[in-house]
Parts: sequence; structure tokens; C-alpha cells
Amino acid sequence: MSKQTTPISRAPVTVAVITIICFAVMTTSVLHVASAQQAAQQTVQRATPPAAQTAVTTNVVNAKSAAVAAATEEVVREVAQIRGLNALRPIKSGAQTRLEIERMIIDNLNRETKPEELRTAELALKKLGLVPADFNYRQLIINLLTEQVAGYYDPKRQEFFLADWIDLDGQRPVMAHELTHALQDQHFDLKRFQNWKKDDSDAELAAQALVEGDATLVMEQYIQRDMRRALAFLRSMMAGDAAMSTKQLDAAPDALKRTLTFPYETGLSFARAVWREGGWDAVSKAFTDLPASTEQVMHPEKYFAREAPLKIVLPDFTQGLGKTWKRLDTDINGEWSLYLILEEYLKDDATSRRAAAGWHGDSYALYEKGATGEVAIMQFTAWDTEDDAVEFYDAYIKRTQARYKDAKAIDTKSLARRTFQTIEGTVIIERQGKQVRIAEGSPSNAKLNLFN
Ligand SMILES: [Zn+2]
Repeated sequence: MSKQTTPISRAPVTVAVITIICFAVMTTSVLHVASAQQAAQQTVQRATPPAAQTAVTTNVVNAKSAAVAAATEEVVREVAQIRGLNALRPIKSGAQTRLEIERMIIDNLNRETKPEELRTAELALKKLGLVPADFNYRQLIINLLTEQVAGYYDPKRQEFFLADWIDLDGQRPVMAHELTHALQDQHFDLKRFQNWKKDDSDAELAAQALVEGDATLVMEQYIQRDMRRALAFLRSMMAGDAAMSTKQLDAAPDALKRTLTFPYETGLSFARAVWREGGWDAVSKAFTDLPASTEQVMHPEKYFAREAPLKIVLPDFTQGLGKTWKRLDTDINGEWSLYLILEEYLKDDATSRRAAAGWHGDSYALYEKGATGEVAIMQFTAWDTEDDAVEFYDAYIKRTQARYKDAKAIDTKSLARRTFQTIEGTVIIERQGKQVRIAEGSPSNAKLNLFN
């Protein structure tokens, strides 16, 4: 299955999943292909296309846009009823060609993401072994979004667009999804998710999961009202041409693919749990009482209990690493990303999930050595109980041995501290009580005190 981005969806519709691309995807930190919101939020100023080609494209698009506008009125009435939120203002809609959508994605990426941010995210992904050494983040985002987008809602323009290569009947469920975003925006203001603070990608991904999970749940209920809609939707997703190919998505590194789809899948389970607990009112309330972490999204009972993440402040390791090392970034991985970091190498879903569960908070910092391009990542993690910490500690050791084929244990005296020598630097994993701290990629002569 696939999904992603802002607006859209595609999907195996067995009651669930949909691929949607709703907001756009950007990036932020390690795994946080951040997303949807931004994309959606972008306002894309379309460049003026070359005159000759435009005439034709515009006519075709206008005809399609008129049909979309007519369908919009119908769908919005039903969505407002399902969701229990009235449209406060008319909602603008339109169809866009693949070229227009591609341009929107690129413009948005250029506007919202600085090249240094993408580079930093890329370095962290490579250091953790989640993407290949020649991985190009920017290109992947463009490829994926262009392939996967079925529509998107743009909060700045307060307008939603559907991809014009999908037939209208098939588009109605996507429309139901996008129109939910329009209603969310009118009532809860989606623009505020746009400029998320840079150092808590985990909370950002959690907020996206609410936004997308809500819209996907509405879409699911819209489809369930009339099974012919499911058929039309499926037919259009599978129809001929490469309209909804999943080639790029299938080829994308697992961790990115799964993070991209997290808001739609896990977000859907979360929205459903909140809805079961208190109906749409409870889902609406969640917009003012946001899930604080992916942990809360993955385990809705922790959201209901408002189990707040522990804030961890990392010391500066520049001194210990040595001259010419520089800190590039700090951020929060959260339960979801830590699970992916383990699962990439453990390849044992139950073990990775168990090891990442019991998360209480974390923070990581990425460092780079100027001249050589060596990269180190420091992670401080906190766990609910000592048992949870031990589980994570053991799993991280196994993952490290699988991650670095040449890993040589050089310090085996302590049960609570392991040091490995690898061609990509030293890895130290240490546990004290409910805390596990990791230094990965540091030079062998570094003076690092993880606990003091
Ligand atoms: Zn969406």
C-alpha cells in the first residue's frame, strides 16, 4: 500500500488504508519526513508556463475543474454531516495536471526547506544506516510526492486540488479526505502546524497523525456508506497508465516509506480510538489538546492518560569529540523513529516494538567533523521502568552488531556498558537505571562521559 502526502490517497480499501498525500512532505530530522502539513500549506505560486503549451492544458484543466467544483458541493455536504462540522465558508476546489502538482511540490520544497536542513537529515539517516550511502533525500521526496499525490489541500489559499489524471468517481473519496482538511482548517487552523519548531519532530509527526488520521477516518466512513464508492475508487487507482504507480514508493528506503505513511495508517488507528472514546467531539478537541508524541499516537491509552514525554536537555559534546567537530542539529526521535532504527537491522517486528515501547523521552544531537566529513550522533533516552531501559539497551546492542558488520566489542567488562570499534567510528551504549545513552560514530580518542 502506499500513501502519502498531502492530499491524496490511494489505497487498498479494506476498511482502511489509504494512501494519501496530503500535505506535502518535507523533512526535518532523522526520520521525520515531516510533512503533510507543510506541503499542503504551501502556497504555490505557479510559474507561468510557456505560452504555446498552456492553451491546451488550461482548457482541459478548466473543464475538469468545473466538474470538480460541482462534485465538491455534493461531497462537502456529506462530509460535513459525517464529521459534524459545518463549512463556515465556501471551499474552493480545482484540478491540477501532473506538471502543476510537480511544480507545486518543488516550489514548496525549495521554499520550506533549506538545503542545510535536508543535508543534515540526510547525514543522520546515513549515520543510522537507514538509507544507502549515495542516497539523495531531495530527489526522493520529489519522486515520491509526485507519484503518490492524489490531491492536496492548501491552507494558505484555502483551496484544494485533485490530480486530474484520476477519474472523478474514483476521486470522490479523495475529495472527502481533502474536504475534511478544509473543514479542519476552517475550525482549527491548519496553518499553525506549518512552522513547527525545529527541535521536536516527534511531536510534529504526532500532530500530523491527528490531521491525517481524522481525514482518513472520515474518508473511510464516506466509502463505507456506499460500497460502490469503494469499487469506483479501487478501479480508478488501478486503472491503466501509471496514474497511481507505486514504483518510487516501493523503492524508497523502508524507514522513510513507513514514516511517510505513519500519519495515514497509525494516525487512522489513533483517530479511530479517539472517536470510539468520545465521538467526533473528542477528535475535534484533540486539535486543541494535541497528541504530544508518536508514543501517544501508537498507544492511544497514553494519550487518554496524557502521559507526557520527559524533556531531555543534551550537553554539548563538542569538547569531548575534539576540535573541528561541530553540532549540526538536535531533535527528538520518539518511539516511532527508535522503533524504525531498531527494526531496520533486527528485522523482528515484535522485538523492535517491544524494545521501543516504554519510551519516556529522548533527545539526540548530530555532529560533523569539518575536514573529514565524519559524523557522530549522540542519543539520550529515558524509559518508564528499568526493565524497559534494559530491553532497549539489549536491542540497541544487537542492532549495532548487525548495523556494523565489522563491529568489534572492545569493552565487555560491564553489563551496562558496551563499546564497539567499527570502520565508521566508535559506538558506546551505556545504561544507568532508566536511562540509556549512546554515542555513535565518535573518534576512538574522544573523551566522552555519557553519565557524570
Ligand atoms: Zn490528508
